[in-house]
Amino acid sequence: MHYTGTIWRPPYEAGSLLLEVTAGCTHHRCKFCTLYRELPFPFRMSPLETVEADLLEAQTAMRSLREGELLLRGLGERPQIKRVFLTGGNPFALEFRRLRRIGELVRQYFPECETIGCFARVTDVAHKSGEELEQLARLGYNGISIGVETGDDKALAFMDKGYEAADILRETKRLEEAGIGYHFLYLAGIAGAGRGKEAAKRSAALFNQTHAGIIGSSMLTVFPDSRLQGEIQAGNWREAGELEKLEELRALVEELSIPVWFATLGSSNAVFVEGRLLEERQRLLGELDHALAKGSEGALRSYREDFTAAGW
Ligand code: SF4
Repeated sequence: MHYTGTIWRPPYEAGSLLLEVTAGCTHHRCKFCTLYRELPFPFRMSPLETVEADLLEAQTAMRSLREGELLLRGLGERPQIKRVFLTGGNPFALEFRRLRRIGELVRQYFPECETIGCFARVTDVAHKSGEELEQLARLGYNGISIGVETGDDKALAFMDKGYEAADILRETKRLEEAGIGYHFLYLAGIAGAGRGKEAAKRSAALFNQTHAGIIGSSMLTVFPDSRLQGEIQAGNWREAGELEKLEELRALVEELSIPVWFATLGSSNAVFVEGRLLEERQRLLGELDHALAKGSEGALRSYREDFTAAGW
C-alpha cells in the first residue's frame, strides 16, 4: 500500500480500509494546523494507477485472509471490507469525476463495500452540484468527516479557516438533500482565552440546525511551528487555559439539543467522555464536572506540554 507521511483518520474509522487518494490539504492555511508539516508539498493527488494498485493489493490480502478463514471455519465473521476511508486532509476536494472514478474502482475491487468516507472541508462540498453529490451518494460516499472546528465566526476568521458558520449550515443541508451523512470535528479552545463558552454556545446553536451523526472534539494544542504561535508571540491572541477548554466542552454538551453521538476524540484530550445525546447528557455533564472539580490547571497544562513535546 502507498502511504505518504503520517496518516490521520478519526478513531471511528479504525475498521475501515485506508486508501490513499491524496496527501496533504488544499487549504493549508489554518493557523493552528501542523498536520501535514512533514510533507514537501501542500497537496498531492495520487495517480489513479496507484490507487488501483493499492485496491488490488488489499483485495489480494483479503482473499488470503478468507482462504485462512475457510481453514478456521466457524471462528469469527468472514472478513470483508465494508467501508473504505480515503486518506489525506480533504480528499473531497477532488473534482467530481475523479471521486466518481475512485468510487467505481472501490466497487469493482470490493463489491461488498457499503460506504466510502473521507475528511472534507465545507468548501469542498460547495464546489459540487446537487446532481454530482447525489451521484457520489449512490456510489456509497457517506459519513464524511468535516473539520468544522467551531460555529464561532470570529474564531473561524482569525484562524483563517476559509468559511463562515453560514457556509457550514448551507453545505451540510446540501449534503443532506443529496443523501450524504456527515460528522463534525470540533476544536475546543479555538476561540482563545475568555471566549470558550461563547464559542460553544454559538457552535451548539449552529449544530442544532444540522443532522451530524457524530460530534468529535479535539483540544487545541499550540505547536511551536504553527502560525498561531507567531500570533501569540506578536500579542495578537491568547490561549485559553486547560480548565477553560473543559468548561467550553461542558457548555457545548449542555447546549446541544440534537440526537448525536458526542465524544472527545484522540490524545489531544486529557479527559475522555463519550455518549449519546440527548439520552446520556446528564452522565456526560457529570463526568465533565468531575474532571473540572478534580483537575488542576497545572496538571492539565503539564499533559498539554507532554503532548506538544511528542509533536502530535
Ligand atoms: S483544512 Fe484541516 S488539514 Fe487543512 S490546514 Fe485546515 S485544519 Fe489543517
